[in-house]
Amino acid sequence: MSPTDSLWLSTLSAGDRQELTTLPQAELLPTPDVLVVGAGIVGLATAYYLAEQGAKVQVIEAESIAAGASGTNAGGVWPNDQGPAHGPGFQDLAFMSRDLWGRLSLRPGFELDWRVNGFLNVNPERFRPSAAEVATTYQNQGYTVHAVDSEQVARLEPQLRPGLAAGLHYPSEAHLHPVKAALSFARAIRARGSRIACGVSAVAGTCEGNRLTAVETSGGRCTPRFVVSATGWTTAWMAPFAGALPPLRPVGGQLLASAPQPPVLKGTVAGDYLILQLRTGEIVTGGTLRESADLAPDPELTKKIAAAARDLIPALRHVEFNRVWCGLRSATPDGLPVIDRLPTVGNLFLASGHFRNGVLLAPATGKLLSEWIHQDTQPAELVPFGADRFPARA
Ligand SMILES: Cc1cc2nc3c(=O)[nH]c(=O)nc-3n(C[C@H](O)[C@H](O)[C@H](O)COP(=O)(O)OP(=O)(O)OC[C@H]3O[C@@H](n4cnc5c(N)ncnc54)[C@H](O)[C@@H]3O)c2cc1C
Repeated sequence: MSPTDSLWLSTLSAGDRQELTTLPQAELLPTPDVLVVGAGIVGLATAYYLAEQGAKVQVIEAESIAAGASGTNAGGVWPNDQGPAHGPGFQDLAFMSRDLWGRLSLRPGFELDWRVNGFLNVNPERFRPSAAEVATTYQNQGYTVHAVDSEQVARLEPQLRPGLAAGLHYPSEAHLHPVKAALSFARAIRARGSRIACGVSAVAGTCEGNRLTAVETSGGRCTPRFVVSATGWTTAWMAPFAGALPPLRPVGGQLLASAPQPPVLKGTVAGDYLILQLRTGEIVTGGTLRESADLAPDPELTKKIAAAARDLIPALRHVEFNRVWCGLRSATPDGLPVIDRLPTVGNLFLASGHFRNGVLLAPATGKLLSEWIHQDTQPAELVPFGADRFPARA
């Protein structure tokens, strides 16, 4: 393991790590019902719900399971904290997805390290003019959030530096281990007779009329009835359909982790940066935004994030953050995903641009897309996520 591998990879057992790359069944199904391109959390959730409905699914992944943003994120399932910035369409999808994660966490075989441990925002930039007013506004929009005063902040998280004036507390926010979640989906997909091939890339598609009849992959030709592309920020294999694709760009994010520490935090806290502690004791902090496809951590940023964590939690003042990693989010101009059928290619679906919320939104994205493919009717919940909200490109 390298110190720039994510904490999630380093906390897997050797067997689980191996499973990310060497799943059996490397041979492609030649004629699956659905070909899912990309084994990030969005592609895997989609394949899972499709397989649950009885579809024969082939997943192909250029690298390994959760090799992209899905293996490098913060693991937050935070619909109430994220929702108010995005509006009602996002809220519906996010609440549905949060509920699905809760149910998945109870299913045999799903080992997610699922915890409903709340989210406390003590960054005053997030509650101007006052925590009480912002909490009321969000409550009126249907979010579960409470304004807390200095004393309540200290009671919720006693290790935060004294004197924080106020905060917003979201008691029902949850957290999971994103790579264990991806592996859980992968195992369930295989258990239902569908397949996942790692190290296999989609290269190009062949169209007849408005249908994609074949996909050329590095592992051979595949002729599925439907195709779902869930390839994160890069849609290079879909270049011939570029005019119908939304504008997607990579937005980097950096996270740090310490070795296991005695308990200091109960839930997730947001100050200048996110900070949380896993059950196994590691502190995870960061969550920056950088308009770049560069995956190299920025040493200055590392110092800044570590200093902010030590300032917020004095008990961390001697703690080193030796693991530092970056991931690339897939972003659209409005920060919302595109979950849609391409108008020019009737059997090709796109699920991308989940930006800061792909873990949160993966189950609802996958479930609703699988319903669309099965019933040939667009679910109402997906209408706000059409590609046509962006101008067509030449
Ligand atoms: C630092 C950071 C913190 C984050 N924190 C959170 C959080 O707390 N909560 C949350 O909900 N979200 C969070 N996110 C966002 C979340 O990680 C992403 O939205 C989510 O992982 C996107 O999943 P995905 O499956 O769409 O994309 P990815 O995980 O990027 O998966 C795409 C996959 O497609 C594969 N691929 C690409 N091209 C091809 C091809 N031609 N053929 C085959 N395979 C291909 C790639 O190898 C990759 O494995 C965070 C992201 C970052 C970077």
